[in-house]
Amino acid sequence: MTNRRESEVTSAARSRSQHGRRILEERRTALLADLRHDIHDTCAGVDSVQAHTMDDLDASVVTELSSIRFSLMQMKGEALVRVNEALARIDEGHYGLCESCGAEISEARLCALPFALRCTHCEEREEDAEEARRHEPTLMHRLRCER
Ligand SMILES: [Zn+2]
Repeated sequence: MTNRRESEVTSAARSRSQHGRRILEERRTALLADLRHDIHDTCAGVDSVQAHTMDDLDASVVTELSSIRFSLMQMKGEALVRVNEALARIDEGHYGLCESCGAEISEARLCALPFALRCTHCEEREEDAEEARRHEPTLMHRLRCER
């Protein structure tokens, strides 16, 4: 009985990993294509927004646009790193397991966030902790300021 249950768990984990891998690889391909496009545009110094509306834009708007574009590229780059990390976790066999408590991350969560590192519960706890850290100046910070 135990054996049967174990093999069911294993095959569920395997199908989750296969599903995850497909989604992640698609995501990676899309991100890479996107980034390549962005980098090409940035290097060429021409993009569709500028080409079509340059006459109506002043320099500050163009600067604003490039800084938005830069943050977008940065976000895509970070997403790409997370996708690669998730793919590495699939290879190591712990994809879909919470990094903090080791529990299985729900399928709904993995669908929405294929590179989720933690289960909903731990993620919320982590966010709370982070929030608390942000609001309360740390002892180290105070020591440094007083010195
Ligand atoms: Zn957890």
